[in-house]
Amino acid sequence: MTAETITTAADIRINARWVIPIEPARVILENHAIILQGSRMLALLPQDEADRDYRARETIDLPDHVVMPGLINMHGHAAMSLFRGMADDLPLMAWLNDHIWPAEHQFIGEQFIADGTQLAMAEMLRTGTTTFSDMYFFPELVAQAAHDVGMRAQVCFPLIDFPTAWGSGPEEYLRKGADLIEAWKDDEYITPAIGPHAPYTVSDGPLGDALALSEATGARIQIHLHETAFEVADAVEKFGQRPTGRIEEKGLLGPRTQCVHMTQIDDSDIERLTTSGAHVIHCPESNLKLASGFCPVQKLIDQGINVAIGTDGAASNNDLDLFGELRSAAMVAKAVAGDAAALSAHQALAMATINGARALGREHDLGSLVPGKLADIIAIDLSDPFLQPVYDPASHLVYSNHARAVSHSWIHGVPQLQEGKLTRIDVADLMLRVNDWRDRIRQYQAQ
Ligand SMILES: [Zn+2]
Repeated sequence: MTAETITTAADIRINARWVIPIEPARVILENHAIILQGSRMLALLPQDEADRDYRARETIDLPDHVVMPGLINMHGHAAMSLFRGMADDLPLMAWLNDHIWPAEHQFIGEQFIADGTQLAMAEMLRTGTTTFSDMYFFPELVAQAAHDVGMRAQVCFPLIDFPTAWGSGPEEYLRKGADLIEAWKDDEYITPAIGPHAPYTVSDGPLGDALALSEATGARIQIHLHETAFEVADAVEKFGQRPTGRIEEKGLLGPRTQCVHMTQIDDSDIERLTTSGAHVIHCPESNLKLASGFCPVQKLIDQGINVAIGTDGAASNNDLDLFGELRSAAMVAKAVAGDAAALSAHQALAMATINGARALGREHDLGSLVPGKLADIIAIDLSDPFLQPVYDPASHLVYSNHARAVSHSWIHGVPQLQEGKLTRIDVADLMLRVNDWRDRIRQYQAQ
């Protein structure tokens, strides 16, 4: 038998100093190779075994790097990146009523969405995210923008009681949303979903229609839930029950539901999450900045609830760096639990990968480096002084990581970031358009 007959031809071989596969949990492999074939991962094995078994068309050596699955940012409003830093230091309702909603009324249109979404994708790709969830106006443009770049996205169409630039009201949103689901339902990059804004902005009728659409199509539902103490008190006054109670009563709390925020929760809310199998999307920095409250992450994990993580929009964060978000999540979880062992580094990394994949219902394809899964992979260069010395790369990724250390990424086997440079977004051209928006928004603010 010749060497030719015993080796397998592959497209890309990545030689990594460390690999954190996420599954199995809490494992760190050293000097392993990852073999990619087309859009999928073919193998993960020691480098000397890879020398013997595989011939790759291209080999990438990452001698100071940790390689792991791409991050999944489970909640955001991508185009709001154009509002980054426009209005800060305000409580949620004043921030929305006096700043965000008027500015949205003035500026939201097709070009704003296209440019803002591309700005957000550039930032997310630079900081290790390969899949993001979006909930914003003109979702058909967001889906197209993500697809054109080759980024994976769950695109939730917005559902809200009042008219916006995207439509006249719930009836039109639901009709356009059904078209979105039909158009993208079989796409490998885009997962269309339903985004009722929040219990306090969507009335019973449209909530029921959202559920019917989810049941007919299998589309997931993402909703802002229990964001503030005001929301909970308001619901108790208006409906005689807590927001989770009303959402459960309407049939919307189930394994296809992603509940974003979940601060101000008591044991009855936790019980509803446990029995329904709904997912929690934790957005600690947005909750901190808007002083919304704290999500008891460790308590939820201990109850077996799947907790994923999101940045929320850049208007309330103000960045889309998911590694930074993990650091905040770990710190807040420890403070809230009164326990330094709460939300360990490995648990935090799982939150940003496999738990996100579970919330999307795509855990068989995404969220860990297991042969057969889609090749959504990132590398982080640990050679800089701010990441030295290395005793435990998982610790650095959560507690010490500097987002700029993300050096490489592949989505669907396609290179997106190489040596820190984006391969599929023209950043210079994007910056011209972003500066133009800044000038227009500044002029409006000055009026
Ligand atoms: Zn949000």
